Amino acid sequence: MPKNSPDLNSLDQIGLDQASGVGPKLQEQLRKLGLNSIEDALYHLPLRYEDRRQFRTISQLQTGRQEVFCARVLAAGETRTSRSNRRIFELIVGDDTGRISLKWFNYRKKWLEKRFSVGQQSVFIGEIKSFGIHKEIHHPDAELLPAGGDPTVILRKDPLKFGRILPVYSLTDGLSQYRIRKIWFELVKKYAVYINSSLPDHILKKYNFLPLANALLDSHWPEADASLQQLELGTDKARRSIVYDEFFFLELGLALKRHGVELAKGIAFKVEHLYTKPLTKILPFRLTDAQRRVLGEIKVDMMSLAPMHRLIQGDVGSGKTIVALMAALIAIENQTQVAVVAPTEILAEQHYATFSQWLKKLGLRCELLRSGTSAGDKKRILADLEAGDIHLLVGTHAVLQAGVEFKKLGLGIVDEQHRFGVKQRAVLKQKGNNPDILVMTATPIPRTLSMTLYGDLSLSVIDELPPGRKPVKTAHYSGKNRSSAYRALQQQLILGHQAYIVYPLVEETENSDLLAATEASAALAEHFPQARIGLLHGRIKQADKDAVMNSFRNHQIDILVATTVIEVGVDVANATIMIVEHADRFGLAQLHQLRGRVGRGGDESFCFLISSDHYSDEARRRLKVMVDTNDGFRISEADLEIRGPGEFLGTRQSGIPDFRVASILRDGSILEQARQDAFKYAESTNYLKDNDSISVKKELLKRWGGRLDLATIG
Ligand code: ADP
Ligand code: MG
Repeated sequence: MPKNSPDLNSLDQIGLDQASGVGPKLQEQLRKLGLNSIEDALYHLPLRYEDRRQFRTISQLQTGRQEVFCARVLAAGETRTSRSNRRIFELIVGDDTGRISLKWFNYRKKWLEKRFSVGQQSVFIGEIKSFGIHKEIHHPDAELLPAGGDPTVILRKDPLKFGRILPVYSLTDGLSQYRIRKIWFELVKKYAVYINSSLPDHILKKYNFLPLANALLDSHWPEADASLQQLELGTDKARRSIVYDEFFFLELGLALKRHGVELAKGIAFKVEHLYTKPLTKILPFRLTDAQRRVLGEIKVDMMSLAPMHRLIQGDVGSGKTIVALMAALIAIENQTQVAVVAPTEILAEQHYATFSQWLKKLGLRCELLRSGTSAGDKKRILADLEAGDIHLLVGTHAVLQAGVEFKKLGLGIVDEQHRFGVKQRAVLKQKGNNPDILVMTATPIPRTLSMTLYGDLSLSVIDELPPGRKPVKTAHYSGKNRSSAYRALQQQLILGHQAYIVYPLVEETENSDLLAATEASAALAEHFPQARIGLLHGRIKQADKDAVMNSFRNHQIDILVATTVIEVGVDVANATIMIVEHADRFGLAQLHQLRGRVGRGGDESFCFLISSDHYSDEARRRLKVMVDTNDGFRISEADLEIRGPGEFLGTRQSGIPDFRVASILRDGSILEQARQDAFKYAESTNYLKDNDSISVKKELLKRWGGRLDLATIG
């Protein structure tokens, strides 16, 4: 190793100011991109690539691509655009195969005139735009050629400019591609070699992957014979090697976590159907095949001594709650208690209504605990809970607080909707002695995602809706056409049904252009004089909220005007129509959840999405997806596509390491492969206790930072 060479494992400790060409100002700019260390920079791969190995002819130029070609200036000068009469500078350049127009909209006239006199030969680089049959380039780069010079000389002149496939990096303000390329070129050349591969050898060999150092080098500076198409698709060997490496260490961590769960001793429940059998007799419906299958999976887990750690994933309305109730009854017949934790007060209340309805009929006791529970009631509930007199406790995070003690907690049910609360699960576990854990989520996350997000949970999917459900008919209207939606609403009221009208915000806090739900309900009263209208929003006191929800459930209210507090779980089958105002301001997952409030009975249901006067293209795409499909999986896939995985996941909260290169969306198949390999590797090395897995273990701990506590996972 040369003198002054960096410590093999400390590239993440070396600041970017150590790279040549990076001063304090640039260092600050890079910090804003999330790049702090040399290691960060090595993993900051090009956004795309430009093929500058050869010149194209003008006839070969393709619209939408960044192209490089050699041509002669035929005409140059200032003109005006025909449309806006704006001053522009234009060059007409040509070669043996054709001509193309190059345009500048911001320019220094003198400088351009001096540079491009008629007859001047130059290499031009730029993105080809197409206007009808007419092609042009705006603000091209140019490399002038000496008169009579051989253009191909340029290909060998500067490797940062021509003669190879060049990386294109995401830019920070005021930084030229050339400068960033130069910095990265030096940096990668100097430091990539110190990144060592920790992947087990047999895996590198099996897939013929490149060692990380080479993979990084090749990703930044592709080989001369690299396939541009593969580079563009991200399927080149170098990138695949890096992606696999990231996924492998992610999945290895998950495998260890999962193993920790399996090792712990929990409760082996006996299933005698003491309560579940009577329940099936009084339920007004038969379980769907999917519900039955999932319940079977849960039973197997519950009967085993290892603690259950299972996720039930199912679209809105797929009937997760009944399945959770059945599991709860099994825990109860084994003389243990059950906790049900919901993310919002409304949802807790809803679960309480469902659970207590059935438990009461079976002679069991169910209580509700939330932040608003009075001191007296709370004291009584806590005492009874500790004495074991309460069979099932429903609540918000209040259930997780200190002081809430169970006599014997057997099963914790967490309704997460689309939050990924790793911490909640951990707290709940500590309320008992390795109780079983059942997590419900309504967001149908694509499989590849749930594998990573919930990698330490087993997955059960309810992929079937109860019979008779019709898809909710959905339309998108502008505010001008609101009256059609109102007519449809009126019609549903006449048929004896109920309606939701949803607003994004209550009272104009900062955005005075928002129709406030409070104001709107007054206006609606005028519009629907016969209807009983209720109002529900975040600032209403809890007791009043409950009263409103109960009235709506009992059909003492016809139209419920609400903010998104109804987003999760509210279940009123007679509600058949929903109007969402400012629908463009809601995310896809949210809209899907909202719409799931209707179409819960057998009646035909409707959803009208009313957009604001102005909305983004992205919002238009979201609304179109909603109109096109009711399928939660398709919606969440579209969501992932529109928003990108980072935002979709909010990985920060999810308790898994961030990806630097890999994309769950793009690299799903590599993820699955890596998962299989990692789980197999974990098992074959006795969960990294074998000697030859020492370096793998070291790397694993580094990647996961503090998020992987090997002491507690065996
Ligand atoms: P989720 O929580 O999955 O959104 P719920 O458990 O709230 O769905 O169920 C939605 C509605 O469907 C509830 O009114 C529930 O009683 C009803 N339901 C559940 N399972 C069935 C079934 N097998 N057949 C008919 N209705 C069902
Ligand atoms: Mg539910």
